[in-house]
Amino acid sequence: MRPYILAETNWEALKDAQFELAVLPWGATEAHNYHLPYATDNIEGKYLAAASAKIAWEKGAKVIVLPGIPFGVNTGQSDIYLDINLNPSTQFAILCDIADTLNRQGLRKLLIFNAHGGNDFKPMVRELGLKFPGMFFCIANCFSTVDKKLFFVESGDHADEMETSLLLHLKPELVLPKERWGNGKEKKNKIKAFAEGWAWTERKWSQVSEDTGIGNPHLASKEKGEKFFNAIAQKMGNLFYDLCEADVDNLYE
Ligand SMILES: [Zn+2]
Repeated sequence: MRPYILAETNWEALKDAQFELAVLPWGATEAHNYHLPYATDNIEGKYLAAASAKIAWEKGAKVIVLPGIPFGVNTGQSDIYLDINLNPSTQFAILCDIADTLNRQGLRKLLIFNAHGGNDFKPMVRELGLKFPGMFFCIANCFSTVDKKLFFVESGDHADEMETSLLLHLKPELVLPKERWGNGKEKKNKIKAFAEGWAWTERKWSQVSEDTGIGNPHLASKEKGEKFFNAIAQKMGNLFYDLCEADVDNLYE
């Protein structure tokens, strides 16, 4: 029983407890190339949030990790079988209800711990801030924590070398054998501005990638996954600690 994981702790431990920071992992349920499980983002978010919280907790931080939300925004994958979409407006409604509970009970800080590229919480955090002025909301994206280039050769953003390495580290029993991995080849938009990234439109996933992956996974390894995982957990653990210690009404110097 880890005292910083809400799903594992109990009323005996919590009836007189007071936490500083709640962490809400948020993933997605979606195809990840041929070879990774649909829960890939949820597994990554769950394990990373727990490892980061452990580091902060052991330094004395009062952090609690909430059960993760297993569905994310998958509007661009509407024709990919059993990719389950939550609309952004639904996500906002969920956040409002969670914030309402925390706010009523005096847990003022909420970190949304995002593990899925299609989730975009920034506009929601802006709006939540107005709705719950007594609270502090923030977002951390797991995979922007450290420079991927220091760990991986091939770039990508979905079921790529990075995600395959993480799953080989966390849940190797759920990764298909290497000969069944797709190449994660991405087709680029014919309009140059989108391909260059300075204009944006949602990618129609089934037209962009044959195997649903984006990024070649073939150089993935368990060792790379472990190193990357530990580097993220260390930095996130420091963030959890800093958030617990911070006076959020006096953040600037
Ligand atoms: Zn993913």
